[in-house]
Formats: sequence, structure tokens, C-alpha cells
Amino acid sequence: MIRQAVIMAGGIGSRLKEKTTAMPKGFIEIGALPIVEKSVQKLFASGVEEIIIGTGHCAEWYEKLAARYLGVKLVHNDKYMQTGSMGTLACCAPYIKGDFLLLESDLIYDAVGLRVLINEVHRNTILASGKTGSGDEVYLEADKSGYLVKHSKKWDAIASFSGELTGLARLSKETLAAMVLYMQENTASDPMMEYETAMSSVSGTSGEICNRIYIRKIENYLWCEIDDASHLENAEKNIFPKIREAESLTAIRREVLLNPGPATTTDSVKYAQVCADICPREKEFGEVMAWVAEELALFAGKAGAVETVFFGGSGTAANEAMISSCIPESGKLLVINNGAYGLRMAKMADVYRLDFDVYESLGFVPIDTEKVKKKLLDEKFTHLAMVYHETTTGLLNPVPELGRFCHEHGIVSIVDAVSAYAAIPIDMDRDGIDFMASTSNKNIQGMAGIALVFCRQDALRKIQHHAMRNYYLNIWDQHSYFKKTRQMRFTPPVQTFYSLRQAIIEAKQETVEGRYARYSACWEELVKSVKRLNLEMLVPESAQSKLITAIIEPDSPAYNFEAFHDLAYSHGFTIYPGKLSDANTFRIANIGDIRPMEMKRFGKILEGYMQNVLADV
Ligand code: PLP
Repeated sequence: MIRQAVIMAGGIGSRLKEKTTAMPKGFIEIGALPIVEKSVQKLFASGVEEIIIGTGHCAEWYEKLAARYLGVKLVHNDKYMQTGSMGTLACCAPYIKGDFLLLESDLIYDAVGLRVLINEVHRNTILASGKTGSGDEVYLEADKSGYLVKHSKKWDAIASFSGELTGLARLSKETLAAMVLYMQENTASDPMMEYETAMSSVSGTSGEICNRIYIRKIENYLWCEIDDASHLENAEKNIFPKIREAESLTAIRREVLLNPGPATTTDSVKYAQVCADICPREKEFGEVMAWVAEELALFAGKAGAVETVFFGGSGTAANEAMISSCIPESGKLLVINNGAYGLRMAKMADVYRLDFDVYESLGFVPIDTEKVKKKLLDEKFTHLAMVYHETTTGLLNPVPELGRFCHEHGIVSIVDAVSAYAAIPIDMDRDGIDFMASTSNKNIQGMAGIALVFCRQDALRKIQHHAMRNYYLNIWDQHSYFKKTRQMRFTPPVQTFYSLRQAIIEAKQETVEGRYARYSACWEELVKSVKRLNLEMLVPESAQSKLITAIIEPDSPAYNFEAFHDLAYSHGFTIYPGKLSDANTFRIANIGDIRPMEMKRFGKILEGYMQNVLADV
């Protein structure tokens, strides 16, 4: 599996003259974005977790880029004036952990090339094209089996043409080490060595078989290196528009989900599910799950403080795992019910015949925390279960306050954070949360199918001797088996894990704070329309999550939720009815991969429909 990429960006780009005297080549803009930034975006969208950029000339430009993209690591080649691209690549080598993608910084290319390389069976592969006639071609020669033996800028110097070097490749860590060794042994004769020289050497007949580099040719591949003014003109006029068109052909029809999850996902998350078949008991898949577990835990607390436990299932499975696994025979549970999901946890407690009571609170006013605290102490509860964000109404509950109170009094806190996690910044240690549930398909923006239980380390250890009430959903059993084997006990939703991995890469880029800011900006667009229509919101603005809004339906015979739904649906928006039995509401969620502009567009549809309805009152 490819998890890292290296972009070689140390060069001076002298052939572009004044354009690059004070700027690296990668920062030339095409389509209103520096070409290297576009490349960074394409790499992350292709499932690369870390991008290492080898810098040299004008490195400060890259420092600014790295500050905006988490997951971009810079390695400076101090001797960039005295070395070629291989010198820069050698500086990056110590940070390479396995197979990686290798790119030049001055490229524009069709992202399909990354997909082809990632899917290639040969661990070492150069992506090649047919003849481009660019005037600066590097011609490749292969042996009978298709492996690189020679490269040259001179047509006559190669015996047969196997393709043109595009500047995109994949390599193993071991082959990179062989290339670095070759460079070190030949520095005296070739101090300005380019990376393709080292490639040809380790791949050629005198090299080891494991270092052979396969040439994967796509005859009409869309790419262009920008070395001089004529390349730039060709890139802008010809290649870039064609790349944009080709990439647009793989875009998936956009449906904006304004229902409260599953949420809208990016195309890259959708595509991440389309991958090679793998047995989930393979080491490689275990590594994917371990990475996913570790990264998800970092959205729930500090490094090492939280364990993620997976189950194949929806958010309800995660809640049921907590209710059935975390409370000992001697425990006494209080469940706060101020909506459908609090009520659901109470029903679970009943099914498992726990010793429990329910604290009832209205769904549209903040919980009276003093009353809850008093009840907890007076009646000697050992556990408290509550919902972080009551999705029924969009009410945000005071979980940090109650969590810390529980922690101070030795009460175990169990939190349904299904629709809060990955949008509301949470630190389970700071907020006194012992166990917390979520799912792969809400604010983390993955696909449905993986139930997540986050456990504070010491709270988790304490449940290990609890009698098992449930076989499939037992947290300790699942956790201890996973720790020993890096496998789930039962068949996991394999492809959903790959899309969750991609969703994490994207969530790390955005950050939870950034995500909440985007969701809030969407909410503000919605609320502007609601206010223009004088519609009433169920929950006072100050207590709203800004993730989901329950709106009271207009009192008009002309209002019909189905008709409103169908109108919105015909414009690409999916909405969802309310879930309260005692109030007529409809709910608009603004979670998932949605933009404020889209919410503004939905606001217009809402206003158009409601104005007609209200005119009838
Ligand atoms: N808890 C909360 C707060 C929710 O919002 C939801 C779903 O919307 C659930 C639990 C149940 O999740 P699922 O439908 O994935 O089982």
C-alpha cells in the first residue's frame, strides 16, 4: 500500500528566467492555483497520508504551503546548488517508511496517473507516455520484460523507445536505498546527478532483480513538465484544459444530503472504496485498521489517551456496545432523555435488564445540570449515559460540565457522540468522558458501516472482568483481540475501512475546528433564510449545535412535507422530517461535505416553497 509521496522541489528552474528567480517553479499558477499545490491536493485525494517535499531554491515558499497542509513535511537540501534532483531525493530517503510515489514539482498531470501507479503490481514503476514532442523529452529504453535499462534526452542514444519519462513514479524503500548508494559511489564523477540516472543504473542489467523498474506506458497520457516559456504556454493553452475535462468525467453526480447523516461525502472518499480485494486477516489490512484507529482516537483526545474499538454496524451498535459492556452487575445507571437518542439508550438499558433510571428533560431547552448532579449523588448512581448532540432537535447538551462532574465523583460517563464527534472539538480527558460512541458516516464524512467506540485507557481496563451480556458487541473482547491480532473478531466492512481512511486524511487537512467553522457558515446561510421567512426554530439559537436545525412547520393547509421534499430533491437536496412526537418540525442538517454556497442555494428553494405556502395562510 502506498502511504507516502515525495515531491522533488529543490531545483532553480533557470530556464523560466525572471519567473523563477525569486520563486520555485512549483509555484507557477495554472488554473488559479500553484501547480505544486494542485499536485498536493491530488496526492491527498488519492489516499497519500504524508507528502515529503524536498526543497532547495526559495524554500520559504514551501514553508508557507506546509503551514496550510497538515501532512506535508519539508526536507531541505542544503546543497541544492551543488547537487541535482538525486541529491534532493537522497535527503528525503531517511523519512521513507515503505513504497512511495515520486514526483517532480513542476508537473501538471491527469490524476488518473496516480491511480494507475497505486494499482500497479510492480512495486517499482515509472509512468511513461507516448511521444509529446515537447522539446525536452527524456526517452526510456526497456528490456524485453519492460524494465528500464536506459534513459536519454537524445533519441539516437537509445536502442528502442519504450516511452517518455513523465516525472511520476512509484518506488520501494529498498530501491530508493540502492539509488542513494549509487549516488554516493558516483558523486565524484557526477556531482549534479539527476534521479533518473540512479534509476536507470539500479534497474539496469548490473542491478539486483528486486530493484528493476517497470515502465508503465499510457500512450496518450495528459501531462506536461514546465521548464521553459514554451512549456508554460502549451500547459496553459492545451494540456490543462484537457486535464480538467478528463478529470471532470470521473466526477460523481452531486447529491447534497441535508438529512442528519449519512452525510454527503467527497468523490475521493467514494472512490477509496474501489480498491483491490484483500482478505481482512492480511497484515496489510491490519495496518490500515490500526492507522485508522490511532488517527480517529486523535479526534477524541490526546495521543495515547484513547483507544478506538470498532464494530461492523451503525451508530446504534456503538451505543449498544457501551450500554451492554460498560456497566457491571453492581452498577446503577442514570440515562438523560431529552430526545429520541437518549430514549433509545434507556430502551437498551431496559433490554439488558440493568439497574437504571431516566432523567427526563425537554428536547428544546438546556438540561438543568444542577438537578442531574443532585440526582446522581443522592441516588448513588455509578454511571451516567447522555447524548452529546441530540440530533432529534439540534440541542447541544452540556457534556463537558457533566462529564467533569462525573469524573470528580467517580461516576463513569457514557456519551453518545454519534452526531457530535469530528465536528465539536472533544478531548475525553479534559471533558471527563470515559466512553463515547460515533459512526463512520456522520461528521467524519466516511461511508456507513463502522461503529466506533472511544474509550479512555483507564476506564477501558476497568471493564475487562465485567460479565458479558452481549457477544458481538462486547467492547473488551473486541479490543483485546484487536490488540493481539490487528484483526477484528468477525468480518469487517473492508471497503468501508478504506473510505474511512480517506475521510480521515481529509478531516486532518480540514481540522475539527475548521470543519465546525464550515458547518457553522452553512448553518448561518440556512438561518438567514429561516429568519427572512419568519419561521420559528424549535431550540433557542444559543443552545443550538449549528449542525442540525429543527424548524417548526408553518401552520398552513398548503404545507406538505412530501411536496417540499420532492421539490428540494429535484434540485439535488435531500431533506428529512422531524422526529418529535409532540411538535411538527422538519430538520435541516448541515453536516458532511457541503459548502455555504450550496446552503445558500437551498435557502432560495426553501424561501420559494414557503413563500407560496405562507401566501395561502
Ligand atoms: N445517536 C445519535 C445522536 C444519532 O444522531 C443517531 C443517528 O442519527 C444515532 C444515535 C443512531 O445512529 P445509526 O442510525 O447510525 O444507528
